[in-house]
Amino acid sequence: MRTELAANALLRRCMAERGLAALPLPIPIEEWIESPLGYRFEIVSDAELGPGILGRARPSVGEIAINECLLQHEGRYRFTCAHELAHLTLHHGESGGYSDGELPRDGDASRIEREADRFAAAFLVPGDTLGDAIVRTLADDQLAPQCLEMLRGDDVIAVWLWRRCVLPRLAEVYEVSKPAMAYRCRELRLPNQRRLVRPSLVPLLTCPEAAIRVLPLSEIVVKEGVPRLAKA
Ligand SMILES: [Zn+2]
Repeated sequence: MRTELAANALLRRCMAERGLAALPLPIPIEEWIESPLGYRFEIVSDAELGPGILGRARPSVGEIAINECLLQHEGRYRFTCAHELAHLTLHHGESGGYSDGELPRDGDASRIEREADRFAAAFLVPGDTLGDAIVRTLADDQLAPQCLEMLRGDDVIAVWLWRRCVLPRLAEVYEVSKPAMAYRCRELRLPNQRRLVRPSLVPLLTCPEAAIRVLPLSEIVVKEGVPRLAKA
C-alpha cells in the first residue's frame, strides 16, 4: 500500500506542476523524471554500467542511468526508468546507489527491489485509470459487458480474453510489457474488494506463447460478443 500511495502522490504532483486535469497515457515517465521532478537522467553504454546492468539509480546525487540497449524495447525501458525512479523516491539508505538487471524481478528479490517494482507498476499503470481502460478495451473489441466477469474466471476463456484481447491492448495504452501488465492487474482489486484476475491464472498470462500451446485457444469463437469454445 505504501508504494501505491507514494506513486499516486508523485503522479498528482507531476499533474499539478504541469497544470493537467487528468493523467496523460502513456505516462511520460522519461520527461517527468527530468521535469518537473528535477532528476538527472542519462542513457549510457553497456561499458559504463557494467555487465548485465540495465539501470542504475543514485539517490545521493539524484541521478538515473539507463542502458542504451533497452531503447529498442519500449516496455522494458519504461519499466526500468520507473523502477529507478522508485529508488530515488523511496530508498536513500544505500550510499553507492542501486544497480538493476532484468526487471521486474522474480519472487526471490529483496524487499527493496520488490517495492521498487511495485512502485514502477503503480506509476506507469495508475490504479484509478485501469477499470475504464479495460471496459473500453472490451467495447473496442465488440465484446459484451459480461466479459468483464469472465476475466475473473480460471478457465480457457479467461486465458483467451486476457491474452488475446485485454493484455495486448492495455500494454499498448500504457506502454508496458504484457507480463508487467498481467502482474499489475494481479495486484489490483475492484471496489468490492474482489480481484480483477485470479492469482492462479497469472502464470498462464505471463508465460511465453509456446508454453500454452496445449490450450485450445484457437478453438474459441465469439458469438454475440461472448467468447466460447466452438464445439461447446
Ligand atoms: Zn532496483
